[in-house]
Amino acid sequence: LGEPDLRRLDAVDVGVAWPVPGPEDNKYSQGVTGIAAGSATYPGAAVLATGASVLSTSGMVRYAGPAADAVRARWPEVIATGSVTDAGRVQAWVVGPGIGTGQEGRGVLRQVLEAGVPVCADADATTLLAHYPDVLDARDPGTPLVLTPHAGEFARLMGDEPGEDRIGAVRAAARKYDAVVLLKGNTTLVAAPDGRVLANVARGSWLATAGSGDVLSGLLGSLLASGLDPWLAAGMAAYVHSLAGDLAARNVPVSASGVVAAIPDAIRQLRGLL
Ligand code: AMP
Ligand code: MG
Repeated sequence: LGEPDLRRLDAVDVGVAWPVPGPEDNKYSQGVTGIAAGSATYPGAAVLATGASVLSTSGMVRYAGPAADAVRARWPEVIATGSVTDAGRVQAWVVGPGIGTGQEGRGVLRQVLEAGVPVCADADATTLLAHYPDVLDARDPGTPLVLTPHAGEFARLMGDEPGEDRIGAVRAAARKYDAVVLLKGNTTLVAAPDGRVLANVARGSWLATAGSGDVLSGLLGSLLASGLDPWLAAGMAAYVHSLAGDLAARNVPVSASGVVAAIPDAIRQLRGLL
């Protein structure tokens, strides 16, 4: 980690930048996050990503997709609709967890990219981008895009595993897609297209559990919706995600639902440092 362009966020960096409402704020100025996730087969991905967004910062969370009933039942504060086109205005979209890699998912990804707001493309959305690079034509080049692959998804995006030089690999991906790329792992790396790289080194490994990536994308959606720089937002999301994982580990074994539930503790701890 001795590279000059490689930075690590510390607790105070994240605590200072975390968006909290002030006297002049309302739910819209806090950020409206849209979550396009889940399917009949994978409703849980929708519930987890939406919940992470609800418990992080969002002034409002809108859900769009086939898991609307499951999302409503778990998160009554969420406005849930069946499709992205019915969802109304959002300030950032999270797309991908559990949407599938077929034509339906491809259509959802395209609709989200056409919205002209920052997008976090996670999970199946990264696979869709790898298989159908033409969907990127729908993107307004000035609009932030954050890709959040694990190593396998990264290999599909780049045609090759990250390998030994993970820093070089994540930089190359950010350049190729003109996007912020967050490469998951025990050390998570976040690269911007201009070559800046942030690292988050996990203390524990309890996040190696099903659904934990869906929690990260929901968190990141909230931060994008609040208007933060996408590179910083991705680094902050990785930080809080791993802190929430540590806090959830007070009740081992850790479940992704437990990580969602620990997000407020993590934020409170960071804000308490200020
Ligand atoms: P996903 O594979 O999309 O469910 O994402 C898994 C999440 O858990 C990512 O945020 C990873 O960085 C994190 N994670 C997975 N395995 C580990 C590990 N061994 N140590 C720390 N974090 C991990
Ligand atoms: Mg995932």
